[in-house]
Amino acid sequence: MANHPIRVLLVDDDEDYYVLTRALLSDIVGKPYQLDWVARYDDALRTMQTNVHDVCLLDFHLGQHTGLELLRAALASNCQAPMIMLTGQGDHEVDLEAMRAGAADYLTKGRTDAALLERAIRYALERRRTLEALRESQQHIAQLYEQEQSQRRELEQAYADLRQAEALRDDLTRMIVHDLRSPLTVIISSLHLLGQPGKYAPSADAAGRWLDRARTASQRMLGMISDLLEVSKLEAGELQLKRAPLLLPALLAEKEDGYRSQAARDNRTFEVRVRPGLPHVMADAELIGRVIDNLVSNAFKYTEPGGRIELQLEGDGQGLIARVRDDGMGIPAEYRERIFEKFVQVTDPQTGAPVRKGTGLGLAFCRMVVEAHGGRIWVDSAPGQGSTFVFVLPASV
Ligand code: ADP
Repeated sequence: MANHPIRVLLVDDDEDYYVLTRALLSDIVGKPYQLDWVARYDDALRTMQTNVHDVCLLDFHLGQHTGLELLRAALASNCQAPMIMLTGQGDHEVDLEAMRAGAADYLTKGRTDAALLERAIRYALERRRTLEALRESQQHIAQLYEQEQSQRRELEQAYADLRQAEALRDDLTRMIVHDLRSPLTVIISSLHLLGQPGKYAPSADAAGRWLDRARTASQRMLGMISDLLEVSKLEAGELQLKRAPLLLPALLAEKEDGYRSQAARDNRTFEVRVRPGLPHVMADAELIGRVIDNLVSNAFKYTEPGGRIELQLEGDGQGLIARVRDDGMGIPAEYRERIFEKFVQVTDPQTGAPVRKGTGLGLAFCRMVVEAHGGRIWVDSAPGQGSTFVFVLPASV
């Protein structure tokens, strides 16, 4: 780099000054210079825009134009080389204006010798290097700042996520404690009544009812605990599917009685329709059974007394289609995807509380199980017009 000549462009309509400048530059020892010369404003601007020169010397008087105009035009068209203005003696105002407009320096014509010229060029180049270094470090600082900002944003997001997860965990803990407490209270009070001695002992009828209540409450608790355990196992990839040929009608036959007695108790109707020709499916019967339990118990839960729940099974080219249809409260559009996420429950817009007590885990469980089987689950619903939960399990080939 040190051996490269410094390329200087002289813009001056006076050829004599070009000859003089060339002589001055050749007098400078130690550094080679290559001087180019243009006389006209237009040519000068074009040449300067090519940015091949290290420094430009601009005469102030350029026919109809001034060196100041050229300087401004060159700066505006992104000329990089530092510019030194050449002015006449006593043009002090012009010197100042040139410096204000962005000139690196000025030299007074007629009073410039080789040493002065060399120093002006050297200073101009150094100043330019300093400015470039400054610009680079500014860019670097800007990049660092941007990086720092984006790390800060990531941290803030991570913190917000953590807070949300903590809030959910706290909510969930509260919900679970609360929800486990009520069936447990039922169990304890039923056991207490069943254990009454002597003349306070319940009649056989009442004992049967209390046993029934205790059994249902225990089932509820077990269901909740299983949901929780299985969702976390599924999430951790720890639940192994025990696939075997799925005999869904037989599985339903086992469950139907339980569903029917719940329907009778809750004053709802329950129907099962199985179309013939169901496809052959390999699945984990216990998990699929729990998916159906969840969907049916939701249908009971989100339907008013007198409501009607229907379970349909059919097959198509794709696989086995199961539908759990109810004529209950339905699900607002904005929730239809989200209810399959963990802990998401439809809330009452007025109170902000869930429309029914629950954990928001059942459908997350259902989706994980169905997807683990390579299937799909979704809901068709309209508020006030019931819901149909549909899942499809791929037929095995
Ligand atoms: P949970 O019932 O314990 O709240 P789920 O994951 O089973 O949790 O359901 C999530 C939410 O989806 C429920 O809170 C409820 O708002 C809505 N939902 C589920 N099933 C139905 C249904 N059959 N009808 C109306 N809303 C339902």
